[in-house]
Amino acid sequence: TEELPDGTFKASDVEVTLTAPHKLQAKPDVGNLIFGRTFTDHMFTVEWDKQAQWGKPQIKPMGNLPIHPAAKVLHYAIELFEGMKAYRGVDGRIRLFRPDLNMQRILRGAKRAMLPTFDPNEFIGCIKKLVKIEQEWIPHSETSSLYIRPTYIGTDPSLGVALSNNAMLYIILCPVGPYFATGFKPVSLYADPKYVRAWPGGCGDQKLGSNYGPTVFVQKTAEARGQQQVLWLYGEDHQLTEVGTMNIFFVVRNANGEKELITPPLNGLILPGVTRFSVLDLCREWKELKITERTITMAEVQQLTKENRLLEMFGAGTACIVCPVCSISYLGEKIDIPTAEQENPVYMKVLNTLSNIFYGKINHPWGVLV
Ligand code: PMP
Repeated sequence: TEELPDGTFKASDVEVTLTAPHKLQAKPDVGNLIFGRTFTDHMFTVEWDKQAQWGKPQIKPMGNLPIHPAAKVLHYAIELFEGMKAYRGVDGRIRLFRPDLNMQRILRGAKRAMLPTFDPNEFIGCIKKLVKIEQEWIPHSETSSLYIRPTYIGTDPSLGVALSNNAMLYIILCPVGPYFATGFKPVSLYADPKYVRAWPGGCGDQKLGSNYGPTVFVQKTAEARGQQQVLWLYGEDHQLTEVGTMNIFFVVRNANGEKELITPPLNGLILPGVTRFSVLDLCREWKELKITERTITMAEVQQLTKENRLLEMFGAGTACIVCPVCSISYLGEKIDIPTAEQENPVYMKVLNTLSNIFYGKINHPWGVLV
Protein backbone atom coordinates (compact mmCIF):
# COMPACT_ATOMS: atom_id res chain seq x y z
CA THR A 1 0.00 0.00 0.00
CA GLU A 2 0.95 3.65 -0.25
CA GLU A 3 1.37 3.90 3.52
CA LEU A 4 3.81 0.99 3.62
CA PRO A 5 6.20 1.71 0.74
CA ASP A 6 8.67 -0.88 2.00
CA GLY A 7 6.09 -3.49 2.94
CA THR A 8 6.19 -5.01 6.41
CA PHE A 9 6.84 -8.09 8.48
CA LYS A 10 3.96 -9.42 10.57
CA ALA A 11 3.72 -10.33 14.25
CA SER A 12 1.64 -13.39 13.33
CA ASP A 13 4.57 -14.68 11.23
CA VAL A 14 7.06 -14.71 14.11
CA GLU A 15 8.89 -18.02 14.30
CA VAL A 16 9.84 -18.93 17.85
CA THR A 17 12.88 -21.01 18.77
CA LEU A 18 13.09 -21.35 22.53
CA THR A 19 16.32 -21.58 24.48
CA ALA A 20 16.96 -25.11 25.77
CA PRO A 21 15.74 -25.37 29.40
CA HIS A 22 19.20 -26.20 30.74
CA LYS A 23 20.56 -23.03 29.11
CA LEU A 24 18.07 -20.64 30.71
CA GLN A 25 19.81 -18.24 33.10
CA ALA A 26 18.92 -17.77 36.73
CA LYS A 27 16.94 -14.55 37.26
CA PRO A 28 19.10 -11.88 38.91
CA ASP A 29 18.52 -10.03 42.16
CA VAL A 30 17.12 -6.75 40.79
CA GLY A 31 18.47 -4.74 43.72
CA ASN A 32 22.02 -5.22 42.44
CA LEU A 33 21.50 -4.81 38.71
CA ILE A 34 23.72 -2.42 36.78
CA PHE A 35 21.80 -0.94 33.84
CA GLY A 36 22.33 -2.67 30.51
CA ARG A 37 24.55 -5.55 31.54
CA THR A 38 22.09 -8.35 32.11
CA PHE A 39 20.09 -9.66 29.15
CA THR A 40 17.18 -12.05 28.99
CA ASP A 41 17.29 -15.47 27.31
CA HIS A 42 15.73 -14.50 23.97
CA MET A 43 15.93 -11.81 21.30
CA PHE A 44 13.84 -10.78 18.29
CA THR A 45 15.32 -10.31 14.81
CA VAL A 46 14.01 -9.57 11.36
CA GLU A 47 16.12 -8.86 8.30
CA TRP A 48 15.43 -6.86 5.18
CA ASP A 49 17.03 -7.12 1.77
CA LYS A 50 16.33 -4.76 -1.11
CA GLN A 51 15.50 -7.64 -3.47
CA ALA A 52 13.89 -10.13 -1.13
CA GLN A 53 12.23 -7.47 1.09
CA TRP A 54 11.34 -8.51 4.67
CA GLY A 55 12.45 -11.94 5.84
CA LYS A 56 10.90 -14.07 8.55
CA PRO A 57 10.65 -12.40 11.96
CA GLN A 58 12.20 -14.60 14.60
CA ILE A 59 12.38 -14.93 18.35
CA LYS A 60 15.40 -17.01 19.20
CA PRO A 61 18.03 -17.60 21.88
CA MET A 62 19.96 -14.44 22.75
CA GLY A 63 23.32 -14.55 21.00
CA ASN A 64 25.85 -12.77 18.82
CA LEU A 65 24.90 -11.36 15.44
CA PRO A 66 26.62 -12.58 12.31
CA ILE A 67 27.81 -9.38 10.70
CA HIS A 68 30.06 -8.66 7.74
CA PRO A 69 33.10 -6.53 8.67
CA ALA A 70 32.14 -4.06 5.92
CA ALA A 71 28.57 -3.64 7.18
CA LYS A 72 27.50 0.01 6.87
CA VAL A 73 26.61 0.23 10.55
CA LEU A 74 30.21 -0.50 11.56
CA HIS A 75 31.70 2.25 9.36
CA TYR A 76 29.13 4.97 8.86
CA ALA A 77 26.93 4.41 11.91
CA ILE A 78 23.77 3.69 9.93
CA GLU A 79 21.96 2.84 13.14
CA LEU A 80 19.11 3.97 15.35
CA PHE A 81 17.51 2.61 18.47
CA GLU A 82 14.64 2.99 20.88
CA GLY A 83 14.31 2.77 24.64
CA MET A 84 11.07 1.71 26.29
CA LYS A 85 9.96 -0.40 29.25
CA ALA A 86 7.55 -3.14 30.26
CA TYR A 87 6.20 -2.99 33.81
CA ARG A 88 4.58 -5.63 35.99
CA GLY A 89 1.48 -4.07 37.49
CA VAL A 90 0.08 -4.47 40.99
CA ASP A 91 -2.60 -6.58 39.27
CA GLY A 92 0.09 -8.92 37.91
CA ARG A 93 -0.53 -7.76 34.34
CA ILE A 94 2.24 -6.47 32.12
CA ARG A 95 2.08 -3.07 30.44
CA LEU A 96 4.02 -1.06 27.91
CA PHE A 97 3.90 2.73 28.11
CA ARG A 98 2.70 4.61 25.01
CA PRO A 99 4.55 2.30 22.58
CA ASP A 100 2.90 4.12 19.66
CA LEU A 101 5.15 7.12 20.39
CA ASN A 102 8.30 5.00 20.23
CA MET A 103 7.05 3.63 16.91
CA GLN A 104 6.54 7.14 15.48
CA ARG A 105 10.08 8.01 16.53
CA ILE A 106 11.70 4.86 15.11
CA LEU A 107 9.91 5.29 11.77
CA ARG A 108 10.96 8.94 11.57
CA GLY A 109 14.53 7.81 12.28
CA ALA A 110 14.31 5.02 9.71
CA LYS A 111 13.41 7.57 7.05
CA ARG A 112 16.34 9.80 8.03
CA ALA A 113 18.77 6.84 8.05
CA MET A 114 17.23 5.57 4.79
CA LEU A 115 16.35 2.23 6.31
CA PRO A 116 13.03 0.64 5.27
CA THR A 117 9.83 1.48 7.10
CA PHE A 118 7.35 -1.13 8.38
CA ASP A 119 3.92 -1.34 9.99
CA PRO A 120 4.33 0.06 13.53
CA ASN A 121 1.47 -2.04 14.87
CA GLU A 122 3.12 -5.22 13.62
CA PHE A 123 6.32 -4.21 15.41
CA ILE A 124 4.40 -3.55 18.65
CA GLY A 125 2.92 -7.04 18.19
CA CYS A 126 6.45 -8.47 17.93
CA ILE A 127 7.56 -6.59 21.06
CA LYS A 128 4.57 -7.98 22.95
CA LYS A 129 5.37 -11.53 21.81
CA LEU A 130 8.96 -11.24 23.00
CA VAL A 131 7.98 -9.64 26.32
CA LYS A 132 5.39 -12.38 26.90
CA ILE A 133 7.99 -15.08 26.38
CA GLU A 134 10.34 -13.26 28.79
CA GLN A 135 7.70 -12.24 31.31
CA GLU A 136 9.39 -14.03 34.20
CA TRP A 137 12.24 -11.55 33.75
CA ILE A 138 10.02 -8.61 34.66
CA PRO A 139 10.77 -7.92 38.30
CA HIS A 140 7.98 -8.26 40.86
CA SER A 141 8.71 -4.77 42.13
CA GLU A 142 7.24 -1.31 41.87
CA THR A 143 10.59 0.30 41.27
CA SER A 144 11.84 -2.08 38.57
CA SER A 145 11.01 -2.92 35.01
CA LEU A 146 12.16 -4.63 31.83
CA TYR A 147 14.04 -2.29 29.52
CA ILE A 148 13.31 -2.87 25.83
CA ARG A 149 15.93 -1.90 23.26
CA PRO A 150 14.72 -2.07 19.66
CA THR A 151 17.74 -1.54 17.41
CA TYR A 152 17.87 -0.92 13.68
CA ILE A 153 21.12 -1.34 11.72
CA GLY A 154 22.29 -1.05 8.11
CA THR A 155 23.99 -4.37 7.39
CA ASP A 156 24.84 -3.94 3.69
CA PRO A 157 28.24 -5.70 3.37
CA SER A 158 29.96 -2.99 1.33
CA LEU A 159 32.18 0.01 1.96
CA GLY A 160 31.14 3.43 0.66
CA VAL A 161 28.88 6.03 2.22
CA ALA A 162 25.67 5.00 0.49
CA LEU A 163 22.22 3.62 0.99
CA SER A 164 22.16 0.32 2.84
CA ASN A 165 20.50 -2.38 0.76
CA ASN A 166 20.35 -4.68 3.77
CA ALA A 167 19.07 -4.03 7.25
CA MET A 168 18.36 -5.81 10.49
CA LEU A 169 15.83 -4.82 13.11
CA TYR A 170 16.26 -6.53 16.46
CA ILE A 171 15.14 -6.30 20.06
CA ILE A 172 17.06 -7.14 23.22
CA LEU A 173 15.76 -6.90 26.79
CA CYS A 174 17.36 -6.04 30.13
CA PRO A 175 15.78 -6.29 33.57
CA VAL A 176 16.44 -3.02 35.39
CA GLY A 177 16.33 -2.23 39.08
CA PRO A 178 15.61 1.12 40.75
CA TYR A 179 17.38 3.90 38.83
CA PHE A 180 18.40 5.67 42.00
CA ALA A 181 19.87 2.83 44.02
CA THR A 182 20.93 5.20 46.78
CA GLY A 183 17.62 7.05 46.94
CA PHE A 184 16.12 9.91 45.02
CA LYS A 185 18.98 12.40 45.12
CA PRO A 186 19.06 15.55 42.97
CA VAL A 187 21.95 15.67 40.49
CA SER A 188 24.58 18.32 39.79
CA LEU A 189 25.16 19.45 36.20
CA TYR A 190 28.15 20.57 34.16
CA ALA A 191 27.39 23.14 31.45
CA ASP A 192 30.16 24.18 29.09
CA PRO A 193 29.19 25.97 25.87
CA LYS A 194 32.27 24.59 24.10
CA TYR A 195 30.50 21.22 23.77
CA VAL A 196 27.47 21.00 21.48
CA ARG A 197 25.21 17.94 21.24
CA ALA A 198 22.87 19.03 18.44
CA TRP A 199 22.63 21.86 15.92
CA PRO A 200 20.14 23.22 13.39
CA GLY A 201 20.01 21.01 10.33
CA GLY A 202 21.61 18.14 12.26
CA CYS A 203 20.10 14.96 13.68
CA GLY A 204 19.91 15.72 17.40
CA ASP A 205 16.16 15.21 17.25
CA GLN A 206 16.65 11.59 16.14
CA LYS A 207 17.67 8.58 18.18
CA LEU A 208 20.62 7.81 15.92
CA GLY A 209 23.54 6.05 17.62
CA SER A 210 25.88 8.62 16.04
CA ASN A 211 24.47 11.28 18.40
CA TYR A 212 25.54 9.37 21.48
CA GLY A 213 29.09 8.02 21.06
CA PRO A 214 30.68 11.50 21.08
CA THR A 215 28.92 12.46 24.33
CA VAL A 216 30.88 9.95 26.44
CA PHE A 217 33.93 12.21 26.49
CA VAL A 218 31.88 15.14 27.78
CA GLN A 219 30.14 13.01 30.41
CA LYS A 220 33.54 11.80 31.64
CA THR A 221 34.73 15.42 31.77
CA ALA A 222 31.74 16.28 33.95
CA GLU A 223 32.44 13.33 36.27
CA ALA A 224 36.13 14.22 36.56
CA ARG A 225 35.04 17.67 37.74
CA GLY A 226 32.68 16.17 40.30
CA GLN A 227 29.42 16.84 38.45
CA GLN A 228 27.03 14.03 37.64
CA GLN A 229 25.47 14.94 34.31
CA VAL A 230 26.03 17.19 31.31
CA LEU A 231 23.73 20.10 30.63
CA TRP A 232 23.83 20.59 26.86
CA LEU A 233 23.90 24.21 25.74
CA TYR A 234 23.48 25.61 22.27
CA GLY A 235 24.20 28.92 20.56
CA GLU A 236 25.75 32.28 21.35
CA ASP A 237 23.09 32.87 23.99
CA HIS A 238 23.75 29.50 25.70
CA GLN A 239 20.30 27.98 25.36
CA LEU A 240 19.62 25.03 27.65
CA THR A 241 18.58 22.07 25.51
CA GLU A 242 18.84 18.70 27.32
CA VAL A 243 20.42 17.02 30.36
CA GLY A 244 22.45 13.90 29.62
CA THR A 245 19.90 11.78 27.75
CA MET A 246 16.88 13.52 29.21
CA ASN A 247 14.61 16.37 28.24
CA ILE A 248 14.56 19.31 30.65
CA PHE A 249 11.81 21.08 32.53
CA PHE A 250 11.76 24.20 34.70
CA VAL A 251 9.13 25.33 37.17
CA VAL A 252 9.33 29.08 37.63
CA ARG A 253 7.38 31.86 39.31
CA ASN A 254 6.82 34.10 36.28
CA ALA A 255 6.67 37.90 36.08
CA ASN A 256 2.90 37.76 36.69
CA GLY A 257 3.39 35.70 39.83
CA GLU A 258 2.01 32.54 38.20
CA LYS A 259 3.68 29.14 38.45
CA GLU A 260 4.87 28.21 34.99
CA LEU A 261 6.30 24.99 33.52
CA ILE A 262 8.85 25.66 30.79
CA THR A 263 10.50 23.18 28.44
CA PRO A 264 12.54 23.85 25.29
CA PRO A 265 10.55 23.54 22.06
CA LEU A 266 10.97 20.76 19.48
CA ASN A 267 13.08 22.99 17.24
CA GLY A 268 15.38 20.28 15.88
CA LEU A 269 17.84 20.41 18.79
CA ILE A 270 15.70 18.32 21.12
CA LEU A 271 14.95 14.59 21.14
CA PRO A 272 11.15 14.35 21.26
CA GLY A 273 10.92 12.27 24.43
CA VAL A 274 7.94 10.06 25.24
CA THR A 275 8.30 11.18 28.85
CA ARG A 276 8.44 14.84 27.73
CA PHE A 277 5.12 14.51 25.87
CA SER A 278 3.64 12.78 28.90
CA VAL A 279 4.81 15.44 31.40
CA LEU A 280 3.30 18.14 29.17
CA ASP A 281 0.04 16.20 28.70
CA LEU A 282 -0.37 15.58 32.45
CA CYS A 283 0.42 19.16 33.47
CA ARG A 284 -1.98 20.50 30.83
CA GLU A 285 -4.67 18.21 32.20
CA TRP A 286 -4.03 19.32 35.82
CA LYS A 287 -4.40 23.01 34.90
CA GLU A 288 -2.30 24.03 37.91
CA LEU A 289 0.51 25.57 35.92
CA LYS A 290 0.93 27.72 32.88
CA ILE A 291 2.67 25.55 30.25
CA THR A 292 5.19 27.05 27.85
CA GLU A 293 7.39 25.42 25.23
CA ARG A 294 10.09 27.96 24.56
CA THR A 295 13.84 28.54 24.51
CA ILE A 296 15.43 29.34 27.87
CA THR A 297 18.98 30.69 28.18
CA MET A 298 21.64 30.57 30.89
CA ALA A 299 21.29 34.34 31.39
CA GLU A 300 17.62 33.81 32.18
CA VAL A 301 18.39 30.95 34.58
CA GLN A 302 20.90 33.20 36.37
CA GLN A 303 18.36 36.03 36.58
CA LEU A 304 15.52 33.76 37.79
CA THR A 305 17.84 32.27 40.40
CA LYS A 306 18.88 35.71 41.63
CA GLU A 307 15.23 36.64 42.06
CA ASN A 308 14.40 33.30 43.74
CA ARG A 309 11.93 32.57 40.96
CA LEU A 310 13.43 29.33 39.64
CA LEU A 311 11.69 26.72 41.79
CA GLU A 312 12.45 23.40 40.13
CA MET A 313 14.58 22.00 37.36
CA PHE A 314 14.33 18.35 36.37
CA GLY A 315 15.23 15.94 33.61
CA ALA A 316 12.67 13.52 32.16
CA GLY A 317 13.28 10.27 30.28
CA THR A 318 12.41 6.58 30.18
CA ALA A 319 15.45 5.50 32.22
CA CYS A 320 14.85 7.52 35.41
CA ILE A 321 11.37 8.95 34.59
CA VAL A 322 12.21 12.23 36.38
CA CYS A 323 15.51 13.40 37.78
CA PRO A 324 15.65 16.51 39.99
CA VAL A 325 18.57 18.93 39.52
CA CYS A 326 20.28 20.72 42.43
CA SER A 327 22.98 22.78 40.71
CA ILE A 328 24.63 23.88 37.47
CA SER A 329 28.36 24.52 37.17
CA TYR A 330 28.71 27.08 34.41
CA LEU A 331 31.78 29.08 33.40
CA GLY A 332 33.32 29.00 36.87
CA GLU A 333 30.07 29.72 38.68
CA LYS A 334 27.89 27.29 40.67
CA ILE A 335 24.19 28.02 40.40
CA ASP A 336 22.15 26.33 43.13
CA ILE A 337 18.62 25.29 42.27
CA PRO A 338 16.17 24.63 45.12
CA THR A 339 14.34 21.72 43.41
CA ALA A 340 14.63 19.47 46.47
CA GLU A 341 13.44 22.18 48.85
CA GLN A 342 9.99 22.72 47.31
CA GLU A 343 6.86 21.55 49.06
CA ASN A 344 4.82 19.25 46.83
CA PRO A 345 7.13 19.69 43.86
CA VAL A 346 5.79 19.22 40.33
CA TYR A 347 8.40 16.55 39.53
CA MET A 348 7.14 14.36 42.38
CA LYS A 349 3.52 14.64 41.28
CA VAL A 350 4.60 13.71 37.74
CA LEU A 351 6.63 10.77 39.03
CA ASN A 352 3.82 9.46 41.21
CA THR A 353 1.21 9.77 38.48
CA LEU A 354 3.37 8.10 35.84
CA SER A 355 4.28 5.30 38.28
CA ASN A 356 0.59 4.73 38.97
CA ILE A 357 0.05 4.30 35.23
CA PHE A 358 3.12 2.07 34.72
CA TYR A 359 2.19 -0.26 37.55
CA GLY A 360 -1.52 -0.36 36.78
CA LYS A 361 -2.63 1.40 39.97
CA ILE A 362 -4.83 3.57 37.81
CA ASN A 363 -6.42 2.54 34.57
CA HIS A 364 -5.10 4.74 31.82
CA PRO A 365 -4.98 4.43 28.02
CA TRP A 366 -1.20 5.08 28.12
CA GLY A 367 -0.65 1.76 29.88
CA VAL A 368 -0.90 -0.79 27.05
CA LEU A 369 -1.46 -4.38 28.15
CA VAL A 370 0.93 -6.94 26.68
N1 PMP B 1 16.81 13.19 25.18
C1 PMP B 1 17.71 12.33 24.71
C2 PMP B 1 18.93 12.85 24.04
C3 PMP B 1 17.50 10.94 24.87
O1 PMP B 1 18.39 10.07 24.40
C4 PMP B 1 16.34 10.49 25.53
C5 PMP B 1 16.11 9.03 25.74
N2 PMP B 1 15.39 8.48 24.64
C6 PMP B 1 15.42 11.44 25.99
C7 PMP B 1 15.69 12.79 25.80
C8 PMP B 1 14.15 11.03 26.68
O2 PMP B 1 13.28 10.38 25.80
P1 PMP B 1 12.21 9.33 26.33
O3 PMP B 1 11.34 10.07 27.28
O4 PMP B 1 11.49 8.89 25.10
O5 PMP B 1 12.97 8.25 26.98
